[in-house]
Amino acid sequence: MSQSDESKLTHPLGDMSPEDFRRHGHEIIDWIGDYLAHTERYAVLPSTQPGDVRRALPEEAPARGEDFAAIFDDVKDIIAPSLTHWNHPSFFAYFAITASAPGIFGELLCAAFNVNQMLWRTAPAATELEGVAVSWLRQMIGLPDNFDGLIYDTASVSTLHAIAAARENLNLDIRERGMSRRDDALPLLRVYTSEQAHSSVEKALILLGLGQNSLRKIPVDAEFRMDAAELERAIVEDTRAGALPFCVVATVGTTSTTSVDPVPAIADVCERHKLWLHVDAAYAGSAAVIPELQFILDGCARADSLVTNPHKWLFTPFDCSVLYTRRMDVLRRAFSLIPEYLKTDDTHAVMNGMDYGVQLGRRFRSLKLWMVMRYFGQEGLAARLREHNRLGSLFTSWIKAAPDWELLAPVPFSTICFRFAPHTETDATSLDALNERLMHAVNATGEMFISHTRLHDRFALRLTIGHIRTTETHIEQAWNLLRKHAAHLSDTAA
Ligand SMILES: *Cc1c(COP(=O)(O)O)cnc(C)c1O
Repeated sequence: MSQSDESKLTHPLGDMSPEDFRRHGHEIIDWIGDYLAHTERYAVLPSTQPGDVRRALPEEAPARGEDFAAIFDDVKDIIAPSLTHWNHPSFFAYFAITASAPGIFGELLCAAFNVNQMLWRTAPAATELEGVAVSWLRQMIGLPDNFDGLIYDTASVSTLHAIAAARENLNLDIRERGMSRRDDALPLLRVYTSEQAHSSVEKALILLGLGQNSLRKIPVDAEFRMDAAELERAIVEDTRAGALPFCVVATVGTTSTTSVDPVPAIADVCERHKLWLHVDAAYAGSAAVIPELQFILDGCARADSLVTNPHKWLFTPFDCSVLYTRRMDVLRRAFSLIPEYLKTDDTHAVMNGMDYGVQLGRRFRSLKLWMVMRYFGQEGLAARLREHNRLGSLFTSWIKAAPDWELLAPVPFSTICFRFAPHTETDATSLDALNERLMHAVNATGEMFISHTRLHDRFALRLTIGHIRTTETHIEQAWNLLRKHAAHLSDTAA
């Protein structure tokens, strides 16, 4: 036997055999089925310490391939227990999300097809399905049909692209000539957003070379909504001072309190001053699937662009963010750059995803979104979101009725900002510390996970309901745990 034959036997080439693929595949699906049915077997927030997982795994990759069963055992024994379980029904931190069953199938098939959606030609069905999914969702949330769009990974990236398009729309030739060392020195280019806006707006300005100085944060009212009169005042002031306002980012569902900026009034200001209006509806855009809540997007038909994340509150596995815009031509102008080897003769007839963003390669993300929309339907999605809002109202009513608890912001959806405020404790710093200890105490139980924010310079507990398997029982358990630990903490403090 020659040496090369021998090495072929000990190191057979090719992928896992189809038989083994089926066998392990069935096992994995069975395991996932159990995981989804009994996620509560895991602590939602693990007690894992930094370095634990690293230490449990070999420092070097194996020289010889291992049996898949051994690999999967480590996933079950080492990885899963040390994950924070976002797919747990008592995950109430940040924004609760869901990988629903049809969405998981979508991800699985996406990995199997492994298409790169850079051009229509490299993934015809994926490109066209993305158009279908984007259009279906647009209709579900009530945006008019002059909005087209595409899918990116995250809202941060969608907003980056929107602001890049807004800058391109200035026609200052920044795409070719850049912003530095120009003979016609550019004025300060200004972007406006509220004090409560997501940090992704500021990050986009850093990345686009506009700099943090280009951002002006507009104050909010008592309910954390952008003050449109202040916005206009700031624009006028900046213009007088020689700056060039060009973009406003309004938020429908801010990250802290889910407040909704007055988009109709902001759109008026943008029209008067000819500014690009981008709406960040990353979280709350999904709520517009509920017909009686569609008013939350009032005024958004007048926006130039809008982002919403189906991976947040629309049961689509992470990641999936849709950027809508009435100005696809401008977005394309900002990003289209076609090297010779990617030229195709159908450029004018088809949508080539690579022309609308930084990335060349794009994942087939529409598959999972399309499956989720088909499987649940508009009514099924609306019913589930309505139930989350009902649970949110219920939790809010408990806070309002309890003498030692305080609501810290209005609750437009299913995110509640509150704190424990026993009448015996009036010192602001001690109240903050007490609530921080309370948060850590309930999270350490592994039975629920909440996060926090700061509102009017007070430490606020933040509980958000958005997971598909969260029921009234989970909310009751959370409320009971909070009260139990609050009582314990105030006893030990006294
Ligand atoms: C979550 C969130 C973002 C950021 O979302 P990513 O998809 O993680 O980038 C932006 N804006 C708002 C209002 C959000 O709630």
